[in-house]
Amino acid sequence: MRRALLILLGACLVVAAAWGIHSLPGTVSADIGPYSFTASSPVAATLLVVLFVLIYVIGRLLGFLLFMPRRLRRWQDRRNRRYGDLAVTRALVALAAGESGDARREAGRARRLLGDTPQALLLAAEAGHLAGREDEAEAAFRALARQPDAAFLGLRGLLRQAVAREDWTAAAAIARQAESAHPAAAWLRQERSALALRTGNWIDAVGLADADAPKAALAAAASGQAGNGVQRLHLARQAWKEDRTLPAAAIAYAVALRADGRSARALAVLRESWERAPHPDIAACYLQPLHDGASRLDAAKRLTKHNPTNVESRLVLARTSLEAGKLDDARFHADAARNTGLNQQRLWRLMADIADAEGGDSEAGRIARRDAMRLAATAEPDPVWHCTACGTPHATWHPVCPACGKPATLRWGAPTAILSTTPILTARAS
Ligand SMILES: [Zn+2]
Repeated sequence: MRRALLILLGACLVVAAAWGIHSLPGTVSADIGPYSFTASSPVAATLLVVLFVLIYVIGRLLGFLLFMPRRLRRWQDRRNRRYGDLAVTRALVALAAGESGDARREAGRARRLLGDTPQALLLAAEAGHLAGREDEAEAAFRALARQPDAAFLGLRGLLRQAVAREDWTAAAAIARQAESAHPAAAWLRQERSALALRTGNWIDAVGLADADAPKAALAAAASGQAGNGVQRLHLARQAWKEDRTLPAAAIAYAVALRADGRSARALAVLRESWERAPHPDIAACYLQPLHDGASRLDAAKRLTKHNPTNVESRLVLARTSLEAGKLDDARFHADAARNTGLNQQRLWRLMADIADAEGGDSEAGRIARRDAMRLAATAEPDPVWHCTACGTPHATWHPVCPACGKPATLRWGAPTAILSTTPILTARAS
């Protein structure tokens, strides 16, 4: 209705204008060079309107032709964007469905239509990875890493590839680059932590471990890699404070203290550790600076002062008594250890050495030694380190289980005790 009214109003205006032009009086004359032109006013006015319309139409036409290439380009861009977005969606769907061929084709189309945008490059890389074409994925990740805003995405992909092919040097270098590109990324922290554990970079491993993670084992190992005495002492003290029952922590702290000239404190640390959880390595570290038998025996007595009846104390006292030539004491402590129910190979090896020292080259001595060695052959195995996660036994302590890669899982004990505490499934698997 409104439109009809407007049309009616327009028609009225046109009729009024036509009538107005038609009623114009007089004529219009013009002289252009040798030509002269005379027309009535209505005709001249009509010609003027027609001329104006003609100029307007020609102007529009020229403008259209002039801007035609730009218009075409814009149209092409819009079309590429539309089909490119479609290709991105299809590539995402193909990736989600695990269809590597479709994913690569659509990702390639997206790159052709949209150019090397971060989305297109990431899709191309993921599609290449899905198809097992790691070189193709790497090229796309590298192109992505060169883009300032999306560098982290590219570096993340390159890091994942380096870890997959176990190229730890490259992985560590890429992780450092990624750290500078996106310092606060939680994922990167986890990756760097895992890398540090894999490459045995214990200093980084301690620094990157979660706040609530047990750090004693890592810090003890890290102190051995410290660049200077201050750092070594700091890490060793951290390990010791974290877990005073871990022999490696006590030994690391004692070694750092000795290097710092604080031998008395080092011995106190080892004594405290022995009192809490005696281990032969602690005794070895305690006695290590001493070389004559009498001094070593005296030191062993000081070490075991608070728990002299402990089996480990008995064994250390027996061994050092033997070294000092105190054979009666050696025999006494060895028998005391056996009376606690100990029946391990190390006890019988000790018994054989005592018998050897007691009997010398005599027949009785040889028989006593042979009997002890025979008992050693059938005795229980000696305690070992074992992983509480996978159950694998290890001859020496490690901050990370060499079998399963888990940190701080090694415990020391008799193999029979280990078998009874290892989960059935993991025990079977190993
Ligand atoms: Zn393990």
